[in-house]
Amino acid sequence: MSVDPKQIKVVVIAGGVGGARMALGFLNRPEVDMTVVVNVGDDDWFHGLRVCPDLDTVLYTLAGVVNPKHGWGVDGDTTRSLSVLQKLEAPDTWMTLGDADLGLHIYRSTALRAGGSLTEVMSLVAQKFGVKATLLPVTDEECPTLIKTTSGLLRFQEWFVRDRGQPAVKAVVTDSAKHAHVTAGVQSAIREADVIVIAPSNPFLSIGPMLSVGNFRALLSECSAKRVAVSPLIGGKAVKGPLVKLLQDLEEPVSSEAIAARYEGLIDAFVIDADEEPEDDWRAGVPYQIVQMPTLMSDADKSRELATRICSLAEGL
Ligand code: GDP
Ligand code: CA
Repeated sequence: MSVDPKQIKVVVIAGGVGGARMALGFLNRPEVDMTVVVNVGDDDWFHGLRVCPDLDTVLYTLAGVVNPKHGWGVDGDTTRSLSVLQKLEAPDTWMTLGDADLGLHIYRSTALRAGGSLTEVMSLVAQKFGVKATLLPVTDEECPTLIKTTSGLLRFQEWFVRDRGQPAVKAVVTDSAKHAHVTAGVQSAIREADVIVIAPSNPFLSIGPMLSVGNFRALLSECSAKRVAVSPLIGGKAVKGPLVKLLQDLEEPVSSEAIAARYEGLIDAFVIDADEEPEDDWRAGVPYQIVQMPTLMSDADKSRELATRICSLAEGL
């Protein structure tokens, strides 16, 4: 009798770069059947095309074609189409879309207009890109994250890319997510998972918007999986991106403890970097374990090492 070698169902909850690097660590393990559930709050329309930055970052990373310098976009991509759009004075050309990248956006937009769901389209795309994992948007509905700033209410990419995350943030608005529904595929992935890993993605801009979608938070709080979250802070700094400035704007403490507090009730363990020193009263006062290990995923080997440690940790929970 042959035994199914894929014994462990792992679900990675992911935004963009931090999520993709975490998911990469679980890829191609004979014992792991991985599903990556991805944020769609950053998604928007550009030039009539649906652009899904976090899904595509995970896709390109797991397919091995990501630009290693940026952590997003296609390695070696060019921007000749964007130059034409700029010459024609098309709107929103501040959003960098590469030529190879645009091929995906064209395909996805055509499939969506023909009535396909984002889940169906991305499943086909992941298969064609040879990704050996299930890639799922948390919802098929459009629920753009809005950023309330001192210069007004901005769409996520206007704030993040056009304005380089500079306008001070007063609130991250995810109201539309509350009315959206978690897909059936995500619901069953969470219910059937053995291990759920909340990647070290931005807790406010990536994981927060996902937790706002329909019953996603309740699903995580009620599931039977071992749940582990990884801190995006190393030595009190974000590896990448606007997390620290965002915490300061929102007058939140810049600490792993404050980030973990956002996940309370959803996690059994919180992983912080080996160099961080958790305060004793933090450890004593919370219903989850605080575990230290190296968390910098500077290459695929480091991603795999972290994933291995998380698997052993989950086994002991
Ligand atoms: P984005 O959507 O591309 O901005 O990416 P995410 O939201 O998924 O991830 C951004 C967060 O990932 C940042 O706050 C980073 O600090 C964190 N991050 C990126 N790479 C690493 C890493 O190697 N280790 C850890 N611990 N965090 C990381
Ligand atoms: Ca993102």
